[in-house]
Amino acid sequence: MPTKSQELFQRALKVLPGGVNSPVRAFRAVGGDPIFLTSGKGSQLTDVDGRNYIDYVLSWGPLILGHCHAEVTAALVEALARGTSYGACTPAEVELGEQICEAYPSIERVRLVNSGTEATMAALRLARAATGRDKILKFEGCYHGHGDSLLVKAGSGVATLGLPDSPGVPRALAELTVTVPFNDPAAVEEAFRVHRNQLAAVILEPVVGNVGCVPPRPGFLERVRALTAEQGTVLIIDEVMTGFRVAYGGAQQLYKIQPDLTTLGKVIGGGLPVGAYGGKAALMDQIAPAGPVYQAGTLSGNPLAVRAGLKTLEILRRPGSYERLEQLTARLAEGIKQRAAAAGIPVTINRVGSMFTVFFTGQAVTDYATAKTSDTARFGKFFRGLLERGVYFPPSQFEAAFMSLAHTEEDIARTIEAAGQTFESLWTP
Ligand SMILES: *Cc1c(COP(=O)(O)O)cnc(C)c1O
Repeated sequence: MPTKSQELFQRALKVLPGGVNSPVRAFRAVGGDPIFLTSGKGSQLTDVDGRNYIDYVLSWGPLILGHCHAEVTAALVEALARGTSYGACTPAEVELGEQICEAYPSIERVRLVNSGTEATMAALRLARAATGRDKILKFEGCYHGHGDSLLVKAGSGVATLGLPDSPGVPRALAELTVTVPFNDPAAVEEAFRVHRNQLAAVILEPVVGNVGCVPPRPGFLERVRALTAEQGTVLIIDEVMTGFRVAYGGAQQLYKIQPDLTTLGKVIGGGLPVGAYGGKAALMDQIAPAGPVYQAGTLSGNPLAVRAGLKTLEILRRPGSYERLEQLTARLAEGIKQRAAAAGIPVTINRVGSMFTVFFTGQAVTDYATAKTSDTARFGKFFRGLLERGVYFPPSQFEAAFMSLAHTEEDIARTIEAAGQTFESLWTP
């Protein structure tokens, strides 16, 4: 008897490419069919077959408060009763702009958009306009959404599926994207020498999340900041994943780095579609209608998404939020590490705050190349072992897992036990 999820996936395959609306949902890297979900509450997900899972995907990061938080839901219901969108100015978007500028001192002005992809595309256009240069530099394995210029040596689903740089990106455009390994200051220096005064922007994930979690080496971000400043290159820190996640003020607060532009998304929408880009007034005032660089959006800053974001940030500002996320995630990572060691399974666990990845490799993971030393077949077995035991991890080795404020000590204990049993089942003499 097929499960309801399996039946739905067969139907989905007929009408959606690959059966999904975003590639990594398809479970291709871990085997088996995806589960279809009907509801989420707190740390728990429920699928169409009535099975429950402790969720560490959290919609790929946005749900830092967990699913269906009572206060966020109440804010949304209240906003909903007043209409979903006007395509005109509202008080709430001013408030969200103020909250973002207050939390990120590098952001003097901010523009709201509908996704992280939109934010990075617009930030690149602005950097190119402001510098009059075309080339950009990105890091191997960093994912900045699916914009043409950024789908070169990209992470996330592109890395998971082992895809080459995407067909359909004009070669002339891809050639303007220079890539170097993350955490390699010498490679960045070399790129700045070869493309002297030609780089419009450097864009990076300050903590990489899209090859799995990879923290920056001490001094790496500082070196990139110094080189970009020296050559008048716009430094774009893509905090779509890390913003309000690794700290309220993002990775730039944690590592004390001041970018020229920042991109945000995920957490700032509280589970609804939002992105944002912002930075120095002198740069942002080049955006239309303040300046000539065009970027617009029918639903940008829409009242529902902005309300969910504002309420999420308000709850995150309450004392102890980030301490709790840190403690829970540290405890989980330590527990998983001990159970892996006890079972004789080599793993490397990288973690920054409430972002983490269990890499199935004995090597330190510091960039895309070392992430790729992971045994992805073994990761697939680990993923399925957890799923069978009611724990939902990201269905790819090359993705970060997340903790929410809704997770409990009991969730952590159950997850460590599920991981331990799975590790034991993986061991082969
Ligand atoms: C998720 C992500 C994006 C893309 O955001 P979407 O909302 O999926 O378009 C961009 N950059 C980073 C670092 C991300 O993690």
